[in-house]
Amino acid sequence: MNLKGKDVISIDDFSRKELEHILKVAKKMVPVAQGKKDLKLLQGRIMASLFFEPSTRTRLSFSAAMNRLDGSVLEFGELEKTSVKKGETLADTIRMVDGYSDVIVLRHNSEGAARLAAKFADKPVLNAGDGTGQHPTQTMLDLFTIMEERKKIDGSHIVFLGDLKYGRTVHSLAQALAMYDVEMTFISPKELHMPKHIVDYLKEKGITPKESQSLTKHIKSADVLYVTRIQKERFPSESEYSTVAGAYRIDLDTLEGVKDDMIIMHPLPRVSEIHPDVDGTKHAVYFRQAFNGVPVRMALLSLALGKEGQV
Ligand code: ASP
Repeated sequence: MNLKGKDVISIDDFSRKELEHILKVAKKMVPVAQGKKDLKLLQGRIMASLFFEPSTRTRLSFSAAMNRLDGSVLEFGELEKTSVKKGETLADTIRMVDGYSDVIVLRHNSEGAARLAAKFADKPVLNAGDGTGQHPTQTMLDLFTIMEERKKIDGSHIVFLGDLKYGRTVHSLAQALAMYDVEMTFISPKELHMPKHIVDYLKEKGITPKESQSLTKHIKSADVLYVTRIQKERFPSESEYSTVAGAYRIDLDTLEGVKDDMIIMHPLPRVSEIHPDVDGTKHAVYFRQAFNGVPVRMALLSLALGKEGQV
């Protein structure tokens, strides 16, 4: 399968076969990601890292992925120190960075920014999160995590919890899971429902998700509990945020009676939605999930740069 030069903008630009291929390459990358094996696959290649919004895991795991494969990273750095502050458009910034690098990783606060960037770049653009839109590379590592932890995705009941309106990770994950035979339940405060266009998309694919405000009603049948942070920075006002802040909290009591092999995932950062006591339980996989960002992004960078044959 040849994914050379392919942009990663939205998860629905990928088929299940392509996603499975990416996960297969990612699996081979694990020992390299752990530093147990050397692979100088991307020597001489440059990844531009353009983050217009805060990021810890996505930015660092993309950089770690590039460094582990002996490539280098061109850091955009703080916005304050760039021409964005002088009013440069995203299109102009991208045109220039396109000449300085081989692959562009972009996080931006507006939905559609990555699609726009891909229009102006010849090099592949990897969407590292566009506002409340999509986070496709997170979704790939989420699928990888489910496979690693549970060995299969088909036949699972996935319960999404929290801010389903503004959380981009759940938008792309729900779309990806529509390619599998799964049951989905969306649990959120009524103000933070999954957007209608995502629910409609799932229905078109033959999946009718359950929507609820009650976690207790659904947690016992969950195979995967995907928890999200309430996206404070996306709310129109502090008062609207305060009505839903702290709406759900997973602690040891919440986990009474759940399936033995149920896993709890979270794209992180968490604020207060998962109590630290849960970290030590067999259900918590979110830190391993964060590590999985490295092999998955190694796979994506290698595939986008046409090096998969050498993996
Ligand atoms: N890190 C994830 C994102 O960038 C989730 C979050 O911020 O809550 O979308």
